[in-house]
Amino acid sequence: MKKKIWFQKYKPYVKKYWYCFILAPFFMVLESCGEFILPYLNANIIDIGAANGDIAYIVENGVFMVLLALAMLLFGILGANFAIRGSNRMTTGLRADVFKKVQKFSFSDIDKFTTGSIITRITNDITQIQNFTQTLLRGMFRSPVMLVGAVVMSFSLNSSVAWVILAVVPLLGLAIFGIIMITAPRYSVMQKQLDEMNTEIKETVTNERVIKSFVREDFEKKKFHKVNEKLVEKSIAALKMMILLQPISALAINVTTLAVIWLSGKQIMLGTMEIGTLTALITYLSQILTALNFVAMIVLQGTRANASDKRISEIMNNEVLLNDDNALYPDHEIQEGSITFENVSFRYYKNSQEKALDNISFSITGGELVGIIGSTGSGKSTLVSMIPRLYDVDEGRVLVDGIDVKDLSLFRLRESVAMVLQKNVLFSGTIAENLCWGKEDATEEEMQRVCKIAQADGFIRSFPNGYETELGQGGANLSGGQKQRLCIARSLLKDPKIIILDDSTSAVDTATDASIRYAFRTELPHITKIIIAQRINSVMDADKIIVMDDGKIVGMGKHKDLLASCKTYQEIYWSQKDKEEEDE
Ligand code: ADP
Ligand code: MG
Repeated sequence: MKKKIWFQKYKPYVKKYWYCFILAPFFMVLESCGEFILPYLNANIIDIGAANGDIAYIVENGVFMVLLALAMLLFGILGANFAIRGSNRMTTGLRADVFKKVQKFSFSDIDKFTTGSIITRITNDITQIQNFTQTLLRGMFRSPVMLVGAVVMSFSLNSSVAWVILAVVPLLGLAIFGIIMITAPRYSVMQKQLDEMNTEIKETVTNERVIKSFVREDFEKKKFHKVNEKLVEKSIAALKMMILLQPISALAINVTTLAVIWLSGKQIMLGTMEIGTLTALITYLSQILTALNFVAMIVLQGTRANASDKRISEIMNNEVLLNDDNALYPDHEIQEGSITFENVSFRYYKNSQEKALDNISFSITGGELVGIIGSTGSGKSTLVSMIPRLYDVDEGRVLVDGIDVKDLSLFRLRESVAMVLQKNVLFSGTIAENLCWGKEDATEEEMQRVCKIAQADGFIRSFPNGYETELGQGGANLSGGQKQRLCIARSLLKDPKIIILDDSTSAVDTATDASIRYAFRTELPHITKIIIAQRINSVMDADKIIVMDDGKIVGMGKHKDLLASCKTYQEIYWSQKDKEEEDE
């Protein structure tokens, strides 16, 4: 995607609510007009009304001032209202689009950005843009009008004093500009630090149970303290220049006020100037300060929003390479479930030497039961995640039904490939509701059938409410093995052509594990079954066993052949055999 200027980028979000973007500044400008008429009327009341004891004049002007103030209040409310509505509507649309884009992200895109950073971008960064838009709508015309108006009114009242007021504008403007130049780059550093904190929070909160079971709370607290402190440090670095703004402008205004009083005082004593004019001049001076400060706020929030805009654009412009836009057979429904790997290599980090998969080739006929075994980190999970295209291969090809997975519709491919992970996610709701993730309109018979295969029907029935049993958050009221069996049943309900169990019976006892495999074989003869396991027992009766080590296939065949020929397999076998004997 080409880099777009912000105007083009935000146009679609502004389009439907364009009236807010016109009415907000319009009402704010109307309000500011009152702002510089009021001191003028006030000066008249003092200099003409009070000086001549003209009560009628005072009342007339006083009533007018009250009406004007009420009108200003109305305009102010209307302006703020449209500014809030416009900025919120705009960012709601933007947020929806960013979210939609993130949904399209592949696993490697999420790895690249990190979940914490994606969350910060969708929440905090968009809020920065919203804040800026709101401030901009309120002040972009109002502040300049106020500034020019106050200067012009001062000159019309007394030009010999007004030049002092005019002189302070560029000086103060320069100081504000300097501060902004220093502050702006510190904002992006601050935002990055916020990413880090959110990553930390996300990791801790989602894994609270594990942390508690390892009694790691203190460690986590310290870790959090560290990132939190760093955020404070970066925030202070960014904001400490900002807070200089207030005292600097106050100083400038106070000095100018003194100069105005000194100059005016002389004129008042000479009788060439009235006391009311002096009060009006001082009010205009403070209005100039307000307007300048508002401009500074717009520019500062603008630099902040600019940093955020860049981060949002990074997401929006991230080309999701893993897509099915050029698929040659988008309508192909997977039938056989045969799988072929041809010289597949894959790296998680494209610039590293370390290959997670190194020249992998094998093929599986539809309906086979295939076991994969190997030490942790040998690449088993990586290998199977190539089948539903969770990641794309770097070299070689993966074929399903004889077609390159890149040429299939992603939706159809993932519909037909069910993957059960060791740590799968259940949601709060009933057991039946959780199963229906696999198939929305599943009947009771269908649920029971798959639960019987996954050896879950028995324990579900033992619950008083059976399939209507409520699960706690993440299935907290089930044992690990029960959760795993429920996840297997849920995947089977999808009616897949290929089912992959990635170490998903690790918490199930050996007898039940064997029953699941038996049921798989007898009940699901046409489905291709891939079982990744730690235990040799879980794979030894497979049609084919793939032995992995360090990203490579080091053996492939039946249990007996591997036991005779494959060194890695023998090692795994004997280490487990010895352990079994020890246990006996
Ligand atoms: P296994 O499932 O056999 O235990 P994996 O396929 O999970 O092994 O991991 C293979 C290698 O790839 C390991 O070295 C692991 O550290 C690395 N790896 C796995 N997942 C990722 C990831 N998302 N990002 C980077 N490296 C990864
Ligand atoms: Mg694994």
